Amino acid sequence: MKKMIRILAALAAGLFMMPFSAAEEAGDTLYVRKVENLPEDFIFGMDISSVLAEEQSGVKYHDFDGKEEDLFRILADNGINTIRVRIWNDPFDSEGNSFGGGNCDIRTAAEIGRRAAKCGMKLLPDFHYSDFWADPGKQMVPRAWEGMKIKEKKQAAYEYTLDCMKQLKEAGADVAMVQLGNETNGKLCGEKTWMNIAWIMDAGARAVREVYPEALIALHFANPENPGSYRTYAEKMDYYEKNGLIGYDVFATSYYPYWHGTLDNLAGILTEISEKYGKRVMVMETSYAYTAEDSDFSPNTIGEGGGIEKPYPFTVQGQANCIRDITDTVVNRTPAGIGVCYWEGAWITVGQDSREENQEKWEKYGSGWASSFAAEYDPEDAGKYYGGSAVDNQAFFDPAGMPLESLKVFRLMRTGNEVAPVPDALEEPSLTCDLNLPLELPETVDTILTDDSRTAVPVTWNLTPEEDEAMHAGGPRQYTVTGNAGGLEAKCHVSMIEFNYLQDYSFEDGGEAWKVTDLKKADELYVEEKKTDSLTGVKHLHFWSAGKDSVEFTAEQTLKDLPAGKFRFSVSVMGGDCGETDIYAWVKINGEETARSGQIPIEGYNAWNAGEIPEFTHREGDEVTVGIYVKCSGEGNGAWGKIDDALLNSVR
Ligand code: CA
Repeated sequence: MKKMIRILAALAAGLFMMPFSAAEEAGDTLYVRKVENLPEDFIFGMDISSVLAEEQSGVKYHDFDGKEEDLFRILADNGINTIRVRIWNDPFDSEGNSFGGGNCDIRTAAEIGRRAAKCGMKLLPDFHYSDFWADPGKQMVPRAWEGMKIKEKKQAAYEYTLDCMKQLKEAGADVAMVQLGNETNGKLCGEKTWMNIAWIMDAGARAVREVYPEALIALHFANPENPGSYRTYAEKMDYYEKNGLIGYDVFATSYYPYWHGTLDNLAGILTEISEKYGKRVMVMETSYAYTAEDSDFSPNTIGEGGGIEKPYPFTVQGQANCIRDITDTVVNRTPAGIGVCYWEGAWITVGQDSREENQEKWEKYGSGWASSFAAEYDPEDAGKYYGGSAVDNQAFFDPAGMPLESLKVFRLMRTGNEVAPVPDALEEPSLTCDLNLPLELPETVDTILTDDSRTAVPVTWNLTPEEDEAMHAGGPRQYTVTGNAGGLEAKCHVSMIEFNYLQDYSFEDGGEAWKVTDLKKADELYVEEKKTDSLTGVKHLHFWSAGKDSVEFTAEQTLKDLPAGKFRFSVSVMGGDCGETDIYAWVKINGEETARSGQIPIEGYNAWNAGEIPEFTHREGDEVTVGIYVKCSGEGNGAWGKIDDALLNSVR
């Protein structure tokens, strides 16, 4: 009977699926290059620690049919097989108000574990061993353990972890891996020595194995762009492991492409550690922005600009390509790679129209990254900057809770979905422009196609002659010029600068770019490092002679790649005991002197004087040399002096 029902259900499902099949024929538009050799049991993890608080705040998630659906179900249907959740000891103030960040104590984690298991997904608990956020900069001890000596603290960590694991078990969580410490770059739980860190981790590992003997033990670090630090972490852990402590299975890393180096570097260091110490490795946290826009009135970690790497455009396709490439790196270039876990892929806006309205929900339900109540524990950071989601632009759902096409990447990586590439975004070129030279914007820009390839297309810039003039008259500043290329909005970032065409103009690089010719055997003539004797920086060209009439030299530089135009040249000198002098700046064109400054007087220590040639013209093809001639008779014991800051700027 039961069997019959199942068959009927399958038939019904089949019929119900028909419209979906039709849609499938039309095809997914997301371009996904297949990841070869992707194991069936590869860990595709998603951290959704904020989910309960989000739901309490009224957030609804939808499936690809636009139907409201349980987030866990949506993720499971799209290839996620593991849910990661952070666990804080006691993220509440003395009045019982939540610090926010999803209210992630063990009760929250157990409920998330229960719901994950219901959808056939495993759980990856992440013990911070803190009452709130732990990361490389912050590893505060839980308040209840404050003042404990390490012996007591490790016992407390053992008992606490054991209790948590039992609660997860009771909830029915399918715990496959447990992470002891979060981004543990040399600190944990208020401890700052590797010895004590290892004790805490060991306590946690023993507790985990008592309740979930099959679960893998993972340690998690950040900043793989510093492979030297990773070698140290692995070596320290190996030392304690050999001495009977910790015994872990997985060396895990955060990998945020904005800050954490290249995929080559990631593959290199993870492979090295896995081979040397026999560990499995994985990317425990990653994410990528699908837009630069914020949607909840609380600033995001990643937006427009800033000193970050942006290897993919901030588009839905860019986000998918990023995850695909990280997965490919872990699967195919990191022999012991077992998984990739996305961080907070569903932490979207709580949906109100103003910061004030959202703030009410963040405070009440803990759905922001921190509430004002966190001040009791972390007054300097969370207590000051509390607010909403800093990653709503890196989620797999739009502000209305509709899934983005990029969520399909986990499923499509297995088969590939190499549809015909179409333009997705434009590269944004950056250039510098001399204030006094014409602005030459590029004639083409690269279109980034959905398969992450590039193709150049012609661009039309929206820049009026008046705007161009204003940029040249506005002094050194940054601008963004917009335009149109193949129907997409193009952007060119322009820095207007006063450019000095000389190399090593202040002798800080040691003067290699300068040719110094000693005509009279000066006793000393070299680049000297002495800040107090330099006009700017710490170096200058120094001269000195003991005897009379023995200082005479030239210092010069021949310009390569000088554009055609009008220029001015100046150079500064100070000195003393020089007697009669003949000192001036000069310009030679094709070897012949064409301009000379007035005499540069020598007037004593720190009395800098400049010789200037206010204008000369350079024509295409001419060879320009600029220099300074110095001749001193010397007074009594001979002459000394310093030369610094040669400037060659364009003039209009
Ligand atoms: Ca935000």
